[in-house]
Amino acid sequence: MSEKMMKFVQVNKQTPNKRRADKRLDDFREIYDEFIHDKAKEQSSRCSQCGVPFCQIHCPLHNNIPDWLKLTAEGRLQEASELAHSTNNMPEICGRICPQDRLCEGNCVIEQSGHGTVTIGAVEKYITDTAWEKGWIKPIKVVTELNQSVGIIGAGPAGLACAEELRKSGFKITIYDRYDRPGGLLIYGIPNFKLEKFVVERRSKLLKASGIKFVLNVEIGKDLTLENLKKEHDAVLIATGVYKPREIDIQGNNLKNIFPAMEFLTTSNKKGLGDEVKSFDNGTLNAHGKDVIVIGGGDTAMDCVRTAVRQNAKTVKCLYRRDKENMPGSAREVYNAEEEGVEFIWLSNPKKFLGSEKISSVIIEKMKLSNPDSSGRRKPVSIPNSEFEIKADMVIKALGFDPENLPKLFNNPDLEVSKWGTIKINLKSMETNIKGIFAAGDIVRGASLVVWAIRDGRDAAVTIKKYLENKRDKKIIAA
Ligand SMILES: Cc1cc2nc3c(=O)[nH]c(=O)nc-3n(C[C@H](O)[C@H](O)[C@H](O)COP(=O)(O)OP(=O)(O)OC[C@H]3O[C@@H](n4cnc5c(N)ncnc54)[C@H](O)[C@@H]3O)c2cc1C
Ligand code: SF4
Repeated sequence: MSEKMMKFVQVNKQTPNKRRADKRLDDFREIYDEFIHDKAKEQSSRCSQCGVPFCQIHCPLHNNIPDWLKLTAEGRLQEASELAHSTNNMPEICGRICPQDRLCEGNCVIEQSGHGTVTIGAVEKYITDTAWEKGWIKPIKVVTELNQSVGIIGAGPAGLACAEELRKSGFKITIYDRYDRPGGLLIYGIPNFKLEKFVVERRSKLLKASGIKFVLNVEIGKDLTLENLKKEHDAVLIATGVYKPREIDIQGNNLKNIFPAMEFLTTSNKKGLGDEVKSFDNGTLNAHGKDVIVIGGGDTAMDCVRTAVRQNAKTVKCLYRRDKENMPGSAREVYNAEEEGVEFIWLSNPKKFLGSEKISSVIIEKMKLSNPDSSGRRKPVSIPNSEFEIKADMVIKALGFDPENLPKLFNNPDLEVSKWGTIKINLKSMETNIKGIFAAGDIVRGASLVVWAIRDGRDAAVTIKKYLENKRDKKIIAA
């Protein structure tokens, strides 16, 4: 703690007067801002400018990290922000939620040499949050409006990044989404304690102010068809993400108070956004006072357990069929959840849900890990006669997501998909097998990361632009 900060804490302890306390709160904010600013500067100057930017190589957007760290260390924040924006449409979002330990920070040379990584994500967040506060981030001013248009299905990070890039070139953009708010999983999946919703909302407001049109509460395949969009626009991007929850087929699965993760998280996020949500208010999708069991070991499971803690659940347990070392979720998130009082029951698998109408308990079997198979992974196998019972008022299933059946949903059986149901694209052009229809984000990769969705959206914008320019040239030649 800095000397200034210590002085503030001491003085504040002695003064109960509200007016003076409020004044001190202002002083605190000032000191805190200064503290954060100093911290960002200090961290930025730790970058050794090593010349082999492993951090940049391992960032999916190849952000020019060493250069914006240098600018930050020199106090040139506006330039740092411009540089950060030249490769990333949402640096403050990535700064908050990228698994940096697996990407940029995990590959920082200083980290590799055992001296602790430069906190790249925190600096990226700081630079961009400052840019927003100072009013440096402005809507796009299109120089030449073009009369070609692009329809984008899905307002998640892939759709939004593609829209922004194409709008910069002057194309007319319409984004269609079945949700009532733009943002995709940024708004309704990732919890508020990891990503504050105003941060997502100010991005979509900026895009609206840039002339991008949003058509919300419209599901393609139900309210409009892919054919409608093909006729309406010169090109279409499918960026619909993956939403089909993986299921568990055991006795009692139809009992009340057993929910898929997205239902639980969406409800909680809607409530956090100030919506009236009956299922939360009447206690159905609210963990308050309940014994909660979350099944799964990925980041979605961690978001569920930590949300349940914040809703004041009586107990929160997480069942995972492998051990801690073999968990797919980020180690940092498991650590956070443990700190918050979540109990992990490793090597455990639900066998039966019990209850008369509502769930009342779960029968669990113990697992062990087999020897590594040909892929090198150790399979979980059940231990005979190892069953035990745990009380539960609420069960949340977080077993991962698969793509919805898009050819069926879009009533377009010709749309080619992989054996996993993800959309097949030409990896160079990002075009599907249907001319003029492109795809990006999770619907192509399977469940992935925000930073990869942004990268895909940006790549798709480049190839869509090329496609539209060719189309325009051909028209001119034909005329
Ligand atoms: C709970 C949870 C937590 C996560 N946490 C993190 C994290 O901390 N860090 C990280 O990097 N990644 C995280 N991810 C992953 C990340 O959110 C996704 O990889 C990313 O959002 C994918 O972006 P996208 O644009 O492809 O799809 P999405 O964000 O899923 O957006 C797709 C959009 O398409 C719309 N849509 C779908 N079908 C239709 C249709 N037929 N008609 C109209 N609209 C449609 C949807 O409503 C949605 O708005 C998390 C995922 C989940 C589920
Ligand atoms: S976008 Fe993600 S991986 Fe890239 S620098 Fe930022 S936090 Fe690191």
